[in-house]
Amino acid sequence: MRPYPINVVSIVIPVYNEQASLPELLRRTEAACQQLHHAYEIVLVDDGSRDDSAYLLEQAASRPGSPVVAVILNRNYGQHAAIMAGFEQSKGDLVITLDADLQNPPEEIPRLVAQAELGYDVVATVRNNRQDSALRRWPSKLINLAVQRSTGVAMSDYGCMLRAYRRTIVDAMLACRERSTFIPILANSFARHTTEILVNHAEREHGESRYSPMRLVNLMFDLVTCMTTTPLRLLSIVGFGMAALGVLFAMALIVLRLAFGSSWAGDGTFVLFAVLFVFTGGQFIGMGLLGEYLGRMYSDVRARPRFFVEKVLRSKPAAPVAVTSTDRPTSSTTHRVLP
Ligand code: UDP
Ligand code: MG
Repeated sequence: MRPYPINVVSIVIPVYNEQASLPELLRRTEAACQQLHHAYEIVLVDDGSRDDSAYLLEQAASRPGSPVVAVILNRNYGQHAAIMAGFEQSKGDLVITLDADLQNPPEEIPRLVAQAELGYDVVATVRNNRQDSALRRWPSKLINLAVQRSTGVAMSDYGCMLRAYRRTIVDAMLACRERSTFIPILANSFARHTTEILVNHAEREHGESRYSPMRLVNLMFDLVTCMTTTPLRLLSIVGFGMAALGVLFAMALIVLRLAFGSSWAGDGTFVLFAVLFVFTGGQFIGMGLLGEYLGRMYSDVRARPRFFVEKVLRSKPAAPVAVTSTDRPTSSTTHRVLP
């Protein structure tokens, strides 16, 4: 891992009905950025707010010399789409995302930058004392565990949006044309070196979470389908398990019948179960197979770039050796292969 030189830092913040938090957010984020020894910009994306957020953003951006870039979307597209819109407008070598509701303290920005300078592609954060209801914390814990298992990237808190991404990672994410996405996981699929730091998590001061229970369920499905098609494969695995169980059961019944007579085999009643197991297992295997095709189609339709080239280094092609007039082929030596 080599140190990563950073000239400009971009902060990207999605905003949806956050007029109450905006003044403090701007003040604290600017104060935190002034601690940096880098140029910076603060890209705020208004995700179709119905309150005065867009107006406040426009005002902040029109102050002379303001570091604020206001991006106004025409309607509500969701947090992750809004962040993508912010990525598109950002110019920094390092892009940091955070929430507008001040649950992620902007004061942590310099620490993230310091870690990224060490050479990490992605700097994630773990909420030290997560201030959300248990109803939000437990499903999120389960999902984090499942993600860890299936991506193999040891990250403990995918829900925390206070994260820093190197430019190449942001460009790779922008090259993905898929509609439903979950940015922290997408980023990890392009990252080589990642790290996590512990940060504080504050309670939401103004209003409620902007996610209704239904939208949360939707987000969780986005997260699962974004990272893997494992659930489809599970169908086949369950099917194989069931069919194998059925076969074992049938064999046990046959052995019992031969050894101890028909009463030991339940007078044939259990044979039905064995047959049922085998057939249901077979059905699951069939569904799993369909799932495999579906999964491949899904990844083709999603058309994520297959790879992302960070840089290409090539030395100049060797110049041809100068041919002097004396050893130039003459007509008598036309059989010689020209260099
Ligand atoms: N947000 C957004 N569009 C939405 C929902 C949320 O841009 O449709 C923003 C919101 O303004 C906040 C961030 O996403 O900056 C996180 O939202 P919220 O705090 O409601 O989520 P939670 O912290 O409950 O996960
Ligand atoms: Mg929040």
